[in-house]
Amino acid sequence: MEGVRGDYLRFLAQFGIEPRKPPANAAELRIDMLLRMIEAHRRAGDQAAAAYLDELLAKERAGAADEQRHPAEILLERSRRTVVAAIASSAYADALRHEVFVGDFPTGSLNAEARRTEHGYLILVNSGLSYFFRQVLVALCMRDPVGAEELDLIGQAIAAYVLHRDPAAGPQPVAGGPAAMLSHALQRACGDFVVAHEFGHLLAGHLDMPAAQSRMLPVGDGREVPVIDKSWQQEFEADAIGFSLLLGGRSLHAIKQIIDEGEHDARVAGQGVELLSALAAPMIFFILESLVARCIQEAEGAQLSSAMTSTHPPSRDRLAALYEESIKAMGMYLRYANLARPLVSEEAAIVERVHALLRKAL
Ligand SMILES: [Zn+2]
Repeated sequence: MEGVRGDYLRFLAQFGIEPRKPPANAAELRIDMLLRMIEAHRRAGDQAAAAYLDELLAKERAGAADEQRHPAEILLERSRRTVVAAIASSAYADALRHEVFVGDFPTGSLNAEARRTEHGYLILVNSGLSYFFRQVLVALCMRDPVGAEELDLIGQAIAAYVLHRDPAAGPQPVAGGPAAMLSHALQRACGDFVVAHEFGHLLAGHLDMPAAQSRMLPVGDGREVPVIDKSWQQEFEADAIGFSLLLGGRSLHAIKQIIDEGEHDARVAGQGVELLSALAAPMIFFILESLVARCIQEAEGAQLSSAMTSTHPPSRDRLAALYEESIKAMGMYLRYANLARPLVSEEAAIVERVHALLRKAL
């Protein structure tokens, strides 16, 4: 295996890890699930969602069966492509001179880590992070205001993430109609922000600094990964670059125009939803990160070995630094961030649920 993907596989091998493989009958399982979902949407009279899934089913039958990669890897590759395309049309186009591989790795953190390798750079994203985003975002998009049932789902998702670092053990909420589309767009935007932030470190040269200190980050099972220590100043810089990449380098004025057009022009409606999601994604991410950090902090009293020590500044500071100047100007265009409000207003109730689940499991 050559190039930076080879570097990735060698890096995994150091920890005795192999890339995750989909089950042998993965295509069959996906088709089965799609058929059941289409049937459910038809019964519920949601023709739009059924038609959308019909298209996915056709694509699945047309060739996705040859797909040998794990769904997590495919999602990360999509994030990588999205961010690289944004870089190509940005002021940083010349700064990206090497190949970058974005790979699944049990870092344990909600934040990814990046490092220089022989053939380029590796960005390591915790196993199943986007799956975790989906669990929480679907629960948040289900109902307004969210009820006890949604808070249960969020608590279960966080407990599974904290305990297993792999959210596949968590709940699998399914949303239909507008909630499905909204949570899907937000899940993508949050995942893209995490990856774009790491590209921000890369583009700003943080990964090439000769004086960069390395430290060991525990990742569970007694294993540790060396990560490059970055200053908080560098983190804020990576956030700013990552956010601007997420917005495709557009000015706030241009973004508002596209969103406004999307309200009555179906051809740009999708792009409008994507931009609304991109504007809100870092804020939702910081709020969620701070909630997970609090759950872990309090669980440490319950003797849970914390492998999720953050290498990044507190979310509160990152949120303030990133939105400080533009939050007023964004106004209503930041409306998707309101979806994360229950994570703040119901924080105590969620933490209580997480702890009850952790106590049962430990
Ligand atoms: Zn960082």
